[in-house]
Amino acid sequence: MKFVSTRGQVEPHSFSEAVRIGLAPDGGLFVPDALPDLKAEMLTWESLSYSELCFEFFKHFATDIDEAELKELITRSYSRFDHDECAPLVSLSDSLHVLELFHGPTLAFKDFALQFLGNLYERQVSKRDEEINVLGATSGDTGAAAINGLLGKKGVNIFILYPDGRVSPLQERQMTCMEESNVYPLAITGSFDDAQTALKSVFGDRDFSKSVNLSAVNSINLARILAQCVYYIYAWLRLPAEKREKTTFVVPTGNFGNVLAGWMASRMGMTVAGFQVATNQNDILHRFFSTGDYSVGEVHPSVAPSMDIQIASNFERFLYFSCGEDAEKTRGVMQSFKDEKKFVTQESGLLSSMSSTRMDDAEIREVIADLYEKYDYVADPHTACGFKEIDSFENVVVLATAHPAKFPDVIKDSIGIDSTHKSLEELKQKDISKYPLEPTEDAIRSFILSKQ
Ligand SMILES: *Cc1c(COP(=O)(O)O)cnc(C)c1O
Repeated sequence: MKFVSTRGQVEPHSFSEAVRIGLAPDGGLFVPDALPDLKAEMLTWESLSYSELCFEFFKHFATDIDEAELKELITRSYSRFDHDECAPLVSLSDSLHVLELFHGPTLAFKDFALQFLGNLYERQVSKRDEEINVLGATSGDTGAAAINGLLGKKGVNIFILYPDGRVSPLQERQMTCMEESNVYPLAITGSFDDAQTALKSVFGDRDFSKSVNLSAVNSINLARILAQCVYYIYAWLRLPAEKREKTTFVVPTGNFGNVLAGWMASRMGMTVAGFQVATNQNDILHRFFSTGDYSVGEVHPSVAPSMDIQIASNFERFLYFSCGEDAEKTRGVMQSFKDEKKFVTQESGLLSSMSSTRMDDAEIREVIADLYEKYDYVADPHTACGFKEIDSFENVVVLATAHPAKFPDVIKDSIGIDSTHKSLEELKQKDISKYPLEPTEDAIRSFILSKQ
C-alpha cells in the first residue's frame, strides 16, 4: 500500500517514509491511497488479543515492513499497558459501555499511538543509521505521552517545550521525572503559544533542522491515526454480534484525531449506527456539525484542558474522504480556510456524518457526580463530556480518554474523593529534572546543539 497527500501534489510514499516525514511536503496530510475493505476479515479477529488484532490490521498498511519485525514491534508497543486487554470495554448497563483507553504508561489514550510511533522511530534510526532529534511543544498530555514513547530509544533525543508553571503538577512530573538521558523537558518562560511560536521558527530554519535531523512529534502523523483505528475494532468485536451495527461511538474530541480514526474504521467495514463528537466549551466542531459553520474563535481554558483546541488539524482528512477523496477540492477548502479563518458549508454529506454536543465546566462536574452516584463509576473530565444526549441511542460506547487520577482536583471538587494511581504516586517520590529556557529560536537551537 502507498500513501498520498490530501492535497494531491506529492508522489505516493511507502508507510515508513510517510511516518518519518509526518507532514506531506505540499502541506497536506498523508492518507492511504485506497482504504481497504476489511469487513469479512474483521469477523475472523474476534478471539485475537489486542496486539494480535493490531498486527492483522497493520499488515494491510505497513506493507514495507517485514511481517515478523512488524509483529515484534507491535507486541513490544503494547507490553507496557497495565491491563491484559489494553482497551477493556466496561459495561455500565446493557446499552451503555465505556471503552477505557487510559491503561497505558501515561494514563491517556495518546499512549496507544505514541508507544507504537516511538518504536517506529527507533526502527528508522537503526535502518538509516542516523540519529534524530525530536522536538515538540505541549500544553500537557501529548508531551508526557511522546516522552514516554521515546524514552531510552537508541539514537533518538527528545526535546519538549512546555510553559513553566502552566501545566498541571502531575503532567509536569510525567515529563520531568523520567530519569533517562535522552529526554529534555524544556521549561520555558511564557505561555504555550510562546512555546509553539519558538518551535515553528526553529523548524523554519531549514539548514539547522536538516543538520540535526529534526523531527516533529505531530498529532497529524499517519501512524497515530491508524493505531487508533485498532481499539474501535477491538471494542466492536467485544459487543454481541446483533448489537454491533446499532452502536454509536461517542468520542471526546479536540484535534479530531480520535473520532476520525473510528470513522475511518467504519469506512473499512466496521458497521455502526454512528459517531458523536463531544466537545467542551471550545466547541468549534460542535458548531460545525450543528450549523455548518467552522470558524476559529479564541481558546478558553476549561477543566478538560486536552480538548482546549480551536484548529482541529485532522479535520482535513475528514474533508478529503467526505468529498470522495478529491484532493483538488480539499486543497481549495484548506487554502480559503487559511485566508479567512473559516469554512462554511451546508453540504449534507458532510454535516450528517456525525452528531455533536458541547459541555461547559459546570455540566462536566455534574456529570462526574451523576455517574458516580448512578453507576459508582469515576470518569475524568474529558470522558465526562461524552455523556450528553445519548439517551436516544440504542447502544452506546463512550470513549474514556484519560484516567481520573490525572485530574484529581476536578474529581475532588465534584465527588469529594481522592483519585489516585500507583504510577502517579511513584512519580511524586522522584526528583524533577527540567531545563529552564527562554522561548527564543537562538536559545532552543543552542540547547539542542549542546546535546549532540
Ligand atoms: C488529546 C486528548 C483528547 C482529544 O483527542 P483528539 O484526538 O485531539 O480529538 C481528549 N482527551 C484527552 C484526555 C486527551 O489527552
